Parts: sequence; C-alpha cells; structure tokens
Amino acid sequence: MLKIDMHTHIIPEHLPRFAEKFGYGDFIHLVHHKPGFANMIKGDKFFREIESNCWDAKERIKEYATHQTQVQVVCTIPVMFSYWANPKDCLELSRFLNDDIAATVADHPKNYLALGTIPMQDPHLAIQELERCKSIGLPGIQIGSNINDKNLNAPEFFPIFEACQALNMAVFVHPWNMMGFHSMEKYWLPWLVGMPAETSRAICSMVFGGIFERLPKLRVCFAHAGGAFLPTIGRIEHGFNCRPDLVAVDNDVNPREYLGKFWIDCITHDARMLQYILETAGTDKVCLGSDYPFPLGDLEIGAFIEEMDLPKATVEAIFAKNTLKWLDLETAVF
Ligand SMILES: [Zn+2]
Repeated sequence: MLKIDMHTHIIPEHLPRFAEKFGYGDFIHLVHHKPGFANMIKGDKFFREIESNCWDAKERIKEYATHQTQVQVVCTIPVMFSYWANPKDCLELSRFLNDDIAATVADHPKNYLALGTIPMQDPHLAIQELERCKSIGLPGIQIGSNINDKNLNAPEFFPIFEACQALNMAVFVHPWNMMGFHSMEKYWLPWLVGMPAETSRAICSMVFGGIFERLPKLRVCFAHAGGAFLPTIGRIEHGFNCRPDLVAVDNDVNPREYLGKFWIDCITHDARMLQYILETAGTDKVCLGSDYPFPLGDLEIGAFIEEMDLPKATVEAIFAKNTLKWLDLETAVF
C-alpha cells in the first residue's frame, strides 16, 4: 500500500550565515559539532540539536522505509520562516530554502515532494516567490499559523491566498510563534498547549474571516489534526450561534459547514481521537503525517492506524489518496 507522509521537516545541511550577511537578526545557522549531529543556533543562542536525518535525504529514505513509507512531503522547520526579518532578506532566505528543497526532489523524485516557504510579511514578495515555487515544480507552500502575531484573515494576506487558488498551489498551515510562549515556557507548554491553540486560531481566523467562503477552491491542510479546532467545534459553533454579534461579523456561515472542506493530518497519538477526527472532518480529508524527524512526532508513521481495524479503503485514503487530492497530484506520479 502506498504510504505518503505529508508532514515532515528538512533543512539544508549547510546554511549561509544570514545574520552576518544581513548584519542583524536571529537567523538560524548550523554548527556541525560532531559526526551526524548539528546544533541549530538562533542568533547566538543554542536552539536545538538535530541529527543528520534532518538534512540527509538518503538516510531519511532508508529510515522511513523501515515504516513501509515510500514518499515524504518535506517542508522547512517553522523557525526558518523568519517573517520578522526585512522582507527582502526573508525573500533571499526563502529562495535559498526553496531551491534546496526542490533539488532534493529532483535528486529523488520517487521519494520526495516538497512545499516551499514565502515571505508572508510582504504580500507582494510573497506572491513573487509563490510564483517561483510553482515554476520550480513545488505543488504548494507551508505558512505559519500567524504572521508576526497577525491572524491569517488580515486583509493583506488575502491576495496571497487568492494567488494560491489561482496558481493551484496547496497550503499547509503549521503552528509557530506560539501565543503565550513566554508565560508558559516550563513543561514544554508552548508545544503541548500553545501549538494546538495556534492551529485552532488559524482555522477559526480563516473560517470567520471568510477566506474559505471567498476562495472555495483553495486547498488548505492544517497540522496536528487541526489542533484544538475539531475537539472544540461544539463550543465554536455554539459561540457562533449565541453571540453572532462577536463571531459572525465577517462571515454568517456556521463554522461546522467548513468541516470536510479542508484537510488535516492524522497526528493525534490517540486512536480514539483519530476515530473522532475521521468522523468529524471526513475520511477523505485526513492525511498521513508524522512530524518526522522530531520526537513529538508520530515516528512510527501511522502504525497505530493499521491497528485500528479501519476499512481498507479508509486506510488507503489516509495513507496516500487524500494527500494526493490535497496536492492535486496523480497516484501515477509514484
Ligand atoms: Zn511539524
């Protein structure tokens, strides 16, 4: 059975010293301090240690093959978005990352698909790089759940989504720059509490801001099974019904109507939650994702799904078909 893991991260083995080049900022660089490992340094502070499976395309192929996975959709690590930077510097960084990721696909066309990154803080440059991503063969882009604390319904982002629809580019929304980060650093809460909230923030912003309503052909997938959105859809719908003066100010369509109109990955770490997600979002909208190679991900790449006793057609849909639909690609590609 074809298995495509649509949520994985990759980084170039060697990054230019963008902070030195541009003369400011907490741009990430890598220090390869021992064989097979590198430290990600943010500005001049240690951010995280990564292993060679974060950059080595061949090593990754061998590793995910042990979980019967043939293809990874790769995208950058969200800390690389750099939306806080001067837009033209972010454009240069984005171009570097996009060329690198496109080269990975060109070297291993049967094993990789890739999503680009664009300087969202400058819609004009963002669309310019979106068009270039299309021209170098990327089927979509990854963006953050907020853009420098602005929600995705902010009017300046609308032309970017409009361009994604016009260019037939898929969008993957990934939590980052987590709300409340500095008030809850202990216990890894930005990842455990902040990330699911961020993803719900992104979905609610796009639903209530009328993005999906105005762009019905825009194909968006949200990370981590949509975060808190699906488990709290009852509350969100009730809020829409009881306080339309607060909630329905830009779009008067019930938020539940949008279930089944966007994609989500399956990263729940919980079979009962996945069952609920499948019933709520629809079996045609849940995609196999892992967050490989990071430890909070499902590094057995969907093994729990095979133990769930789901109909074979549903498993096939989760493992490959739904992702190909989201990216508007044919199974025949593989
Ligand atoms: Zn991720």
